[in-house]
Amino acid sequence: TTSTAQVRRSQTAAGLIADAELPPGEHFIDGAFRPGTSGPATEVIDPCTGGPVASVADGTVKEVDAAVAAALAAKEAWGRLVPKERSEVLHRIADRLAEHSDLLVRLESANTGKPLMVSEDDVAGTIDTFRFMAGALRATTSMAAGEYAQDHLSLILREPLGVVGVVTPWNYPLLMGAWKIAPILAAGNTLVIKPSEQTPLTTLKFAELVAGLLPAGVFNVVTGRGSVVGQRLSEHPDVDMIALTGSVSSGRSVARGAAETLKRVHLELGGKAPVVVFDDADLAAAASSLRAAGYWNSGQECGAACRVLVHESVAAEFTELLVREVSTLVVGEPGAGADVEIGPLNSKGHYERVLGYLERARAEGIRAAIGGGALEGPGYFVAPTVLVDVPDGAECSREEIFGPVVTVETFSDEAEAIARANEVPFGLAASVWTESGRRSHDVASRIDAGTVWVNAHLVLANEVPWGGFKGSGYGRDLSLYALDDYSRTKHVMHSRGR
Ligand code: NAD
Repeated sequence: TTSTAQVRRSQTAAGLIADAELPPGEHFIDGAFRPGTSGPATEVIDPCTGGPVASVADGTVKEVDAAVAAALAAKEAWGRLVPKERSEVLHRIADRLAEHSDLLVRLESANTGKPLMVSEDDVAGTIDTFRFMAGALRATTSMAAGEYAQDHLSLILREPLGVVGVVTPWNYPLLMGAWKIAPILAAGNTLVIKPSEQTPLTTLKFAELVAGLLPAGVFNVVTGRGSVVGQRLSEHPDVDMIALTGSVSSGRSVARGAAETLKRVHLELGGKAPVVVFDDADLAAAASSLRAAGYWNSGQECGAACRVLVHESVAAEFTELLVREVSTLVVGEPGAGADVEIGPLNSKGHYERVLGYLERARAEGIRAAIGGGALEGPGYFVAPTVLVDVPDGAECSREEIFGPVVTVETFSDEAEAIARANEVPFGLAASVWTESGRRSHDVASRIDAGTVWVNAHLVLANEVPWGGFKGSGYGRDLSLYALDDYSRTKHVMHSRGR
């Protein structure tokens, strides 16, 4: 194991965020912050130090019910606004977020340990999602009208669903919130969101910033645990749809909870993106792209380029290029400079989970060409790692590790590459690296993933859909497809009355 990475520490005693800049650690229900009714609040931890950042209310069924009642009361008026009016509100939200983008960046990094460059990207993406949906909602509201039965005029209407429950993960707290909130509001729904118990701060800050821009009850936040707050949202009879970004097991719980009321379910779950590198690929370009796509947000990324399948004839050369790229990654605390690229893992539990994968891989005889273990504490830092000599079927190449770990396996022909790419239970994203147009088109069409990049990885835009196949869930975030997911279709037929 060669681990050269060192954790660069912040040189200033002042943290990224002043106490006065923290949002209230309370629920946001019916237009106001409200204290919880349950016992002790949950501590929010800084993963760079393991120390507390803030504390936040631990929600109960009582708060969920109050928030759903507020959203239910608000849905009629919000849903009846004409597109232009809702669009203007979304634009105002985007403007408000842009005015406070520096604060949101620092708060996201203080809570998650993310490098500033990652939080900057998240906040910019969040603002763009609101701007995109503000425009898109005005272009998608009119649907077909015509005479399809003799003397009868049909109108096909797009309507809001009503109240949507949202549950978000800790890896992109603000951005994953925006990917749900913006299309849900754009389509005329009201919502109750439950952020991850580990990373609720930017969602609460969002509530504070937009409180005056939305009618009371349209947007509500209940903080707390998935098994309590998330579960109640998925089961609640007045919630018309539940949207979750999270793990496969939480997805199953939500789908089970939603079954009784037959509410719509939207699931963005895990991934294990294969990166298929053919012998005719530009290997240097692939290695340099993986430097970002495999390790962005410390690999805590559902679309991360984490599972390399490389043709055996170029495997040694590609691995050397990749290791060289990975050796230059700058690891540190977000306060240690704008050039820091890799932060800690998000929590102690997750850090131990990732180290467990690395230990078991070592015990299986799998070699780390770089990295392979923890970096010096405090905090939950893991060295950027490349695992090589990975045999077919190894745990580390099949399960979602969700850390700065890329595995390298080899294949000998195209058919094997496709079969191996598809053998994991996930189907979120993949990339194909080749200079052959025929091959890129053919292989992309045979890979079971919601997104396939050719000679690129992890490039996203608001115009294009994001979501998975197989164990990665169903439903689409971003783009016009998200607006469809959060709308219902009604047919109204008028007789001429002859
Ligand atoms: P997680 O499933 O542990 O938690 C996600 C959210 O679900 C949290 O808010 C949690 O409190 C809640 N939750 C947990 N149990 C629940 C239950 N029974 N009912 C309702 N809600 C419940 O996931 P995580 O560890 O926060 O996030 C990491 C996972 O998210 C990874 O698997 C990752 O791939 C996935 N993810 C997917 C995408 C995507 O777009 N597909 C994006 C980001 C993250």
